[in-house]
Amino acid sequence: MTDNDRDITQIRSDIDRVDAEIMRLLAERRGHSVRIAHEKGRARRPSRDQIREEDLIADRITVGHDHDLDSGLIVKLWRAIVNDSVRVQQEALGRGEADADTITVAIQGIEGSYSHLASQQFFGARGLEVEAVQAPTFAKAFEAVRAGAAEAAVLPIENTTSGAISEVYDLLLDSPLALVGDIKFRVRHRLLGLEGASLSGIRKVYCHPQAIAQCSEFLASLRDCEVVHFSDTALSGKQITDLGDPSVAAIASEDAARMFGLSVLKAQVANRAENYTRFVVVAAKPIPIPEGVPAKTSVVMGVGNHPGALMDALSVFNESEIQLVKLESRPIPHNPQEELFYLDFEGDAADPATASALDELTRHVRFLKVLGSYPSRDLREAPSADRATATAPTGREKLIAPKHRTDSPSGYRLGSRGHKAANTVVEAGAARLGEDDLVMMAGPCAVETWDQVLDAARAVRDAGGAVLRGGCFKPRTSPYSFQGLGFEGLDMLAEAGKTFGLPIVTEVLSPEDVEGVARKADVLQIGARNMQNFTLLSAVGRTHRPVLLKRGMSSSLDELLQAAEYILHEGNQQVILCERGIRTFETSTRNTLDLSAVPVLRSRTHLPVIVDPSHAAGQRDLVAPLALAAQAIGAHGIMVEIHPDPDNALSDGPQSLTLEQFSELTAALGIPRAR
Ligand code: PEP
Ligand code: MN
Repeated sequence: MTDNDRDITQIRSDIDRVDAEIMRLLAERRGHSVRIAHEKGRARRPSRDQIREEDLIADRITVGHDHDLDSGLIVKLWRAIVNDSVRVQQEALGRGEADADTITVAIQGIEGSYSHLASQQFFGARGLEVEAVQAPTFAKAFEAVRAGAAEAAVLPIENTTSGAISEVYDLLLDSPLALVGDIKFRVRHRLLGLEGASLSGIRKVYCHPQAIAQCSEFLASLRDCEVVHFSDTALSGKQITDLGDPSVAAIASEDAARMFGLSVLKAQVANRAENYTRFVVVAAKPIPIPEGVPAKTSVVMGVGNHPGALMDALSVFNESEIQLVKLESRPIPHNPQEELFYLDFEGDAADPATASALDELTRHVRFLKVLGSYPSRDLREAPSADRATATAPTGREKLIAPKHRTDSPSGYRLGSRGHKAANTVVEAGAARLGEDDLVMMAGPCAVETWDQVLDAARAVRDAGGAVLRGGCFKPRTSPYSFQGLGFEGLDMLAEAGKTFGLPIVTEVLSPEDVEGVARKADVLQIGARNMQNFTLLSAVGRTHRPVLLKRGMSSSLDELLQAAEYILHEGNQQVILCERGIRTFETSTRNTLDLSAVPVLRSRTHLPVIVDPSHAAGQRDLVAPLALAAQAIGAHGIMVEIHPDPDNALSDGPQSLTLEQFSELTAALGIPRAR
């Protein structure tokens, strides 16, 4: 080794030492950045302070001059350092313990699509590189996140020209994923073609349906030109390259042009120059928002079918001084006569003031699902706390529900009078349960034949009944007993209900069947044997159908209320409680009708309470006296089993009333006949 070699080795080790020191200092600097992030979080300040960033770089240039360092180098170096610091702060503020610099993101379409560009913009601002997981449909993109194939999905939800993308709204409603962010992305449509192609020579344009709507004016101006639908904007660009035909063009982004080596034939093709698409970001779990970061929350709600119902729900935001930033309505999938409302408002659902407003909202809606809270760019003061008032019961109500218990029970809350003083009114067709008028529900224990259910339905309607019951999935003690006609029976029941203008109620036995049953049934029944099937309770809690929850035959009222809480907790606020008799030492009746359940429940809960004397008595002679007693004690409704030919019924014949007996019963109860 020469002296010269030795010198170089020494110098290199000096450089290594300095570099190691720089590393240590960079790490120390990053530690300070994280501390700043926490301070900013506490002081509710945004993570980025552009003025401070520019001042800092100017200052470093001056100090660099003192050391004879090139200002170009200083600018480059400190820009990189500052950007890294912003990323670190944003992660500390918004993403918890993120450790990788890349994130897998499911998008509908291929790389270069607007979804891809939007995801790069969204995650790029958080210092993350996007690794795209391509999905052929929006549903598959959701599925990729649910299955763990992607950490997030970015999907378009609305465009300034073409409006809401309904499929994504419907997916948000049904999906267990959380909404964790949104981004308004400026869409710049370009007409792309092969190099050398001319606008006048274009005979065919490949285009995504959304882009067709957004560029309709330009497309209409083209002569002798066919517009072909394409599922993906970027892919339409690729198609042009693959075809190699100069008479074919596509509408896509400039990035797509670059990716597929195409040229821009016309730059401005959208109807409006300001063309924005809002994308939503969904992930498997909500991401907690650090205190102080301004946030937005998105919810879906369903309200009653009566004048003022929407106003009533919206007044909660008004009274809580929460600013609504968006209201969109969509028909309920498979139930298009009714609408669901999608709302965005300022605030984080985890923040106590917002949480209490959402709590108040549950008192005014039929259904509520919080899609998620996520950081928003607009800074505003946190809303003030709300106040809840209780109204005293009056008239008959006062006699039969003597005292509302408003203490805080431990196992249930949403169902308690403490949470909501006024009665919840559950609507099924024209029937309103929870008001003074007694609602009569009747029908066969099980749907057996078309004639049987049709005859029963006619009798229900004629005698003033408001809801048609009928079991299609039967929970039978013995596996050898008739198990019901399943979905085939449900079709008959639904048809019979339609024929006589009656909403239908039927039991659902398993979580897998909930969706299918909810498509057809107006009310979902949870039977006594399933009262503590918590998976089933949660599943019906996610639907938009009222639920008739029967008391388990060995369950306390407290357990019944906690079972109802499972449904309420999932978002569905329409629960009807049903006393149907309990197991006691007494053997003279099938079960013992616990009539005191009615006033006890009415004092503890705002939910409507009905009585089923048929399953309690087990014999038809006892049904009428028990029904009259139920009315007297303040039940909001009565459900009885009837059959055109009880002696030949496939289930519960002995307790089923004949159609004539049913008519006598409704007369005795003073229920007006059908007109
Ligand atoms: C029914 O109503 O058909 C029924 C099976 O009742 P329960 O769940 O109360 O036994
Ligand atoms: Mn029965």
